[in-house]
Amino acid sequence: MPIEHVDVAVVGAGLSGIGAGVHLQKNCPDRTFVILEGRDAIGGTWDLFRYPGIRSDSDMYTLGYSFRPWTQAKAIADGPSILDYIRETAKDYGIDRKIRYGHSVKRASWSSSDARWTVEAERGPAREVVRFTCSFLFMCSGYYSYRSGYTPEFPGVESFRGRVVHPQKWTDDVDYAGKRVVVIGSGATAVTLVPEMAKKAAHVTMLQRSPTYVVSLPAEDAVANGLRRHLPPRVAYGVSRWKNVLRGMFFFGLSRRAPRRVKKLILRGVREALGPDYDVRTHFTPTYDPWDQRVCLVPDGDLFKAIKDGGASVVTDRIETFTEKGIRLRSGAELEADVIVTATGLNLEVLGGVELTVDGRSIDPSKTMNYKGMMYSDVPNLASAFGYTNASWTLKCDLTCGYVCRLLNHMKAHGYRQCTPRRNDPSITEEPALTFSSGYVQRSIAKFPKQGSRAPWKLYQNYALDLVALKYSAVEDGTMEFA
Ligand SMILES: Cc1cc2nc3c(=O)[nH]c(=O)nc-3n(C[C@H](O)[C@H](O)[C@H](O)COP(=O)(O)OP(=O)(O)OC[C@H]3O[C@@H](n4cnc5c(N)ncnc54)[C@H](O)[C@@H]3O)c2cc1C
Repeated sequence: MPIEHVDVAVVGAGLSGIGAGVHLQKNCPDRTFVILEGRDAIGGTWDLFRYPGIRSDSDMYTLGYSFRPWTQAKAIADGPSILDYIRETAKDYGIDRKIRYGHSVKRASWSSSDARWTVEAERGPAREVVRFTCSFLFMCSGYYSYRSGYTPEFPGVESFRGRVVHPQKWTDDVDYAGKRVVVIGSGATAVTLVPEMAKKAAHVTMLQRSPTYVVSLPAEDAVANGLRRHLPPRVAYGVSRWKNVLRGMFFFGLSRRAPRRVKKLILRGVREALGPDYDVRTHFTPTYDPWDQRVCLVPDGDLFKAIKDGGASVVTDRIETFTEKGIRLRSGAELEADVIVTATGLNLEVLGGVELTVDGRSIDPSKTMNYKGMMYSDVPNLASAFGYTNASWTLKCDLTCGYVCRLLNHMKAHGYRQCTPRRNDPSITEEPALTFSSGYVQRSIAKFPKQGSRAPWKLYQNYALDLVALKYSAVEDGTMEFA
């Protein structure tokens, strides 16, 4: 079969891949591109996850695209509304026509003599191998494995007579109405599931090894909704977006500068929501500082309300073993359950699990350094969309897409066919790409590319700095080598 060539191959049709398509179409209209998507649907995360109550845990004014206003009343939106937003964006901009579904990319090899990537994908259930060539490869493949979530090995799990389900594998036939449910975990998924399942279950217990910071925010942003009534949608959206960017940056900065003050503030909020008799110290007071791990957000304090109403409770303990009837804890207590939900996290994955070679040399991502949070040392013509850990994913992805378009246009204008970030400053030292102390990060961090001690290799996790570095600074910066 003849091999199809495109200027840009985007991998993934999630929030980032669809955004990348719109940016490419707007800013590089004379370049051809395809979006190779392993699944048979648009939306990535927002199509995959089907557990009860699935929602964003950051506001849609910053999780939404810069180019498409979020116009619904709820700032903390439910999964189906986010999926609709991505689908409608793809349809309205004609990006859906660029998607090749059922194309799971396995390998990509760069040839400097041809200045091309050869991208190999497996298509459909028969896993037929198809190849494309492209001048630039844009990985929008998210950050975790779609095959399965992370579940620790729980002793005795096979003896449990009820149902065990991981949120990533949720199906409509998980029946929990009137049943006793235990949700293992205390991250964003657990705090979403618990209040939602408590509406139907006999009781929901959130079983955590250690507490997480939980902050309540209004599901609706009164200022944003007010602005939308008085201003054109784009202006109102732009103002709300900046308001929330600055609010996020302020609280993150304050958490770094004055962690004890922020800790006090968060715990005061929890105490006010749960009342003076609740054991906030045991169940909601982490041993680490705010933003050493992701802070969990609950809309309108729904988790606290479920606890206060008695529909849900929190147990902070360790699992000794699963039993026929539930879980025995290290303290000796037993939790009886009909359904156990293992909200124990994701398996992080680098670059969609794609094997890369450059001129016949295999690339180990962990040996590379991350340039501007999107490209990799000595890997030509490849970028990846990776969001913030302390703010909405899309804020960074929009900037990344804008930068990739600038880079492509710069190369075209100067007749370059190859761009490669080079580590040409020996004084820059290596640091881990992510500094969160969370288990899911620490389990996988060794596989990830490193960051450097200074720009352009340093990840500042700061929208304002990135805006300057990605939107306004020169593409020819002495680190990016053009050929
Ligand atoms: C439950 C949950 C809630 C979240 N809530 C928030 C939130 O509120 N705010 C926030 O900022 N972030 C949130 N995140 C992070 C979230 O993943 C991002 O916000 C965003 O959805 C990521 O979009 P993406 O397109 O980059 O990746 P994904 O949504 O993961 O999409 C990646 C796409 O690439 C495809 N793909 C991957 N590898 C390959 C391959 N090798 N070949 C072909 N196709 C491939 C996948 O099939 C998928 O369609 C959440 C994550 C989860 C899991």
